[in-house]
Amino acid sequence: MVSRQQIKNEIEQLRQDIDFHNSKYYNEDNPVLSDGEYDRLMQRLMALEEQYPRFKTPDSPTQRVGAKPAKELSAVKHLLPMLSLANAFNDEEIQAFDKRVKKLLDLSAAASLGYVAELKIDGLAVNLLYEKGYLTRASTRGDGFTGEDITNNVKTIKSIPLKLHGSEKSKIPDLIEIRGEIYLEQHEFERINKEREKLAEPLFANPRNAAAGSMRQLDPSITAQRQLNIFVYGTGDLQGIKLTTHWETLLYLKNLGLRISAVAKLGPDINAAIAFCHEWDEKHRGLPYDADGIVIKVNSITQQGMLGQVSRSPRWAIAYKFAAEQTITVIKDIEVGVGRTGALTPVAIMEPVEVSGVIVSHATLHNEDEIRRKDARLGDTVVIQRAGEVIPEIVRVMTEKRTGQEKVFVMPVKCPVCGSDVYRPPEEAISRCTGIACPAQVKERIVHFASRTAMDIAGLGESWVEILVDKKIIQDPADIYFLRKEDLIGLERMGEKSATNLITAIAESKNREFSCLIYALGIRHVGEHIAEVLAEHYASIDELAVLNKEELESIPEIGPAIAESLEIFFKQEETKIVLSKLHQAGVRLQQEKKERKEQILVGKTFVLTGGLELFTRDEAARMIKNLGGRVTASVTKKTDYVVAGTDPGSKYDKANELGVKILDEAGFKKILGK
Ligand code: NAD
Repeated sequence: MVSRQQIKNEIEQLRQDIDFHNSKYYNEDNPVLSDGEYDRLMQRLMALEEQYPRFKTPDSPTQRVGAKPAKELSAVKHLLPMLSLANAFNDEEIQAFDKRVKKLLDLSAAASLGYVAELKIDGLAVNLLYEKGYLTRASTRGDGFTGEDITNNVKTIKSIPLKLHGSEKSKIPDLIEIRGEIYLEQHEFERINKEREKLAEPLFANPRNAAAGSMRQLDPSITAQRQLNIFVYGTGDLQGIKLTTHWETLLYLKNLGLRISAVAKLGPDINAAIAFCHEWDEKHRGLPYDADGIVIKVNSITQQGMLGQVSRSPRWAIAYKFAAEQTITVIKDIEVGVGRTGALTPVAIMEPVEVSGVIVSHATLHNEDEIRRKDARLGDTVVIQRAGEVIPEIVRVMTEKRTGQEKVFVMPVKCPVCGSDVYRPPEEAISRCTGIACPAQVKERIVHFASRTAMDIAGLGESWVEILVDKKIIQDPADIYFLRKEDLIGLERMGEKSATNLITAIAESKNREFSCLIYALGIRHVGEHIAEVLAEHYASIDELAVLNKEELESIPEIGPAIAESLEIFFKQEETKIVLSKLHQAGVRLQQEKKERKEQILVGKTFVLTGGLELFTRDEAARMIKNLGGRVTASVTKKTDYVVAGTDPGSKYDKANELGVKILDEAGFKKILGK
């Protein structure tokens, strides 16, 4: 049971927090919270005040608009107050608004009521005062009653007329307060921030703050250098003209020479307005400027008057808010995950926040270079964004919010899952775990080990590896050789026959060629060809495993990256254990002497095309390689022979064109010495 005192304390804390954030946002143009988080605080406070009306006070932020004007700019009193808007976050809340409106207007729930739905631009609210058609003053919203004088800055914005355009359609009123939103397009915001970065000035968090910062500073020449723009959406005081609907107001303002947004629609009822909101849920992302929602307004100005206002917002309008796609949060930690292929991926663990309607607490940092490039540190305040369903990413580190306590991230040198060495090949961005039995990657490694071009264990595909590893029947590639039929028969969908076949395939693989075994170990950079090169030069795994980088590099085709990768792999404790288990199981870990042929094809390059009758392509290639030759994929001048079987492809024509010798199957056999 929560006591009254606890409720009161929570309310007071919320008010203090919101006041603090209002001042950061409105006075300093430098928010530390995302709008989503701020909205949540505000909603919690509203809900508590609703539930416990005795704690309501007139000075609560729920009863006030914005924040007091800054002292450096002179104060301007608005003729009519500039209000905020109540928010709706879903269809139900918009429907509830429609219901409230109809109830207050004494209309039945089924009565049709016209609404205008229009884009809610995320910028800085301004009040433009025109007297006898001339712009005489411009001010910010401030606390709703008194704003800051920004006339000189506003006058630098080219789309704001200094004199209204009068015409037959739009008579110039004696006096008009025009309400609008000054904004910056995203590309201009980026340009300004880049410039500030060069000058080591604090960066703006988003275009809204940049627009507000540009308008609320003392030197109009700075404002003039920025491409600010305006959309207007309503009036305050209006003398000498009578307008009857909001839609008419928009057209009137347009005719006076002001910019109104084209994203607006007059509809017959609330459902039309809701449909418009959803139409723009996604579409607004394609706009060159930020919009944070759709404002729905009762169209009839007479009805607007009947509805009136509550302390901080009119009763005749509501702002439907789009789910935020960018937000601000803090990196609490950077953890390192190990993927199926052994890649180490740093992930930022963040203070949970809402982005695009989803609470997120993780953001990918991709790799070490990316962290350095962004200079993301533990404790940093960051802007994150979510696109589609993917894990969010960090867009920018707000270095201006650093306290000096932030910690630089260091990539671990040992795998966080198995403790093996982490290896980052030169020229590569990804660091990898070298552990052959690392639980994070063991499935992938065993699937590779058993694959056709490696140990060729038919029947041991991805799904069985998944089951055997999950049930802990095997934990590294060598365990395959200790499987007994009894281990398999009990498994679902594994019959007597399949089990026998699998055990036989495993037993047969023990005699696979040495090069296949090297390839099967899954050493970074050691593909089939390099495995063959190694098998040609070393008679056994024991010979290979003790070599250092320099010795390995002395072999043609073994570059520094491969040499280093081999050296690290064979140094790992896990590798030694797996190799000794393979040895114990009787797997061939050396070259079969009798198989070694005279290297009669050294220096010769072959291309295979068309179907051969006596061998598969793989077999033909292996025979060439066993005799020291090379097989390449395309025909060039350097190709020595093209072996053409039945239905040869374009390689045959190319060989003719280049004058490369073409062998039929009989000619090929002859060259092989068969
Ligand atoms: P608001 O921005 O949600 O809505 C009112 C404002 O919308 C109006 O004053 C007007 O300037 C603007 N607007 C844009 N297009 C409009 C249109 N077509 N018709 C009418 N008005 C239009 O309310 P607010 O009181 O200005 O600010 C509250 C919001 O500001 C919060 O919901 C939050 O998103 C943000 N905020 C954030 C922080 C923070 O720390 N991050 C602090 C304070 C406020």
